[in-house]
Amino acid sequence: MSVSVTRFAAPTASVNSWLVADDTSLIVIDVLRSSAEAAELADEVAASGKQLLAVVVTHGHPDHYIGLRTFAERFPDMPLLVASREIADDITGFTAWMESVGWLDAEPTMKARSTANPDGFDYGIIQVADRMELTLAQGAVVRLDTDWPAAEADHTTVVHVPSANAVFTSDLVYSGVHAWEGPQVTRDKIQSWLAALDTLLERYGTHVTVHPGHGPQGGTARYEEIRRYLRDFLNVTEAATGREEATAEMIRRYPDHEQADFLLPLSIDFHVHA
Ligand SMILES: [Zn+2]
Repeated sequence: MSVSVTRFAAPTASVNSWLVADDTSLIVIDVLRSSAEAAELADEVAASGKQLLAVVVTHGHPDHYIGLRTFAERFPDMPLLVASREIADDITGFTAWMESVGWLDAEPTMKARSTANPDGFDYGIIQVADRMELTLAQGAVVRLDTDWPAAEADHTTVVHVPSANAVFTSDLVYSGVHAWEGPQVTRDKIQSWLAALDTLLERYGTHVTVHPGHGPQGGTARYEEIRRYLRDFLNVTEAATGREEATAEMIRRYPDHEQADFLLPLSIDFHVHA
């Protein structure tokens, strides 16, 4: 039995889906920010000829769950899983907020179903996993670890596949992409996020392959990369006299990072008030 890992890197939000497969089955971790990109991902899953056992959404941010409806329609018997009730609640909460500010106008099928909007998505079909261990058809264990502090998201799932020596960090790690530190990601939570990077190293060891929520996989140097980024972000936003200065300084330090036009300005707006 061998377990393979495939990255599906979407342009929108520079976000990843990860496919974890054995010879006959697979699990998809996260389903992207765009229904159109999720449809491409679903095509890839179908073309593999393997049985899709579950989709796992790691946390309640839309760049990881907008593709849920696409998957629900393409694979109707397949469970859409989150690892805790809190993550399911984060998803419905974020959806309500997005609707209130018009962010779902481009993805109207992902507005919540209601009597006023009977064509919306039924978020009630998302299931809370009853076990924190899933199993691929040939026996490989896929662990869901949820005991992380509020950081980039208030509740996060890290997926660990011991037989593949693979850890899927969700958005505790970004690589080559400006990290989300927008509304709700307070400076206290950024400190907790830094502490969680220590925990990742202690818990899963130094020899794992780290698969980030955004950006390519790599070794545990990925932890150092995001640690340096978060410290720089704290220092730059504290020292800057205004948003333009802070933005320019982060781009100067990270000239090749993606999301300088979206995740970065939203994060700067939240932390710099002039
Ligand atoms: Zn994300």
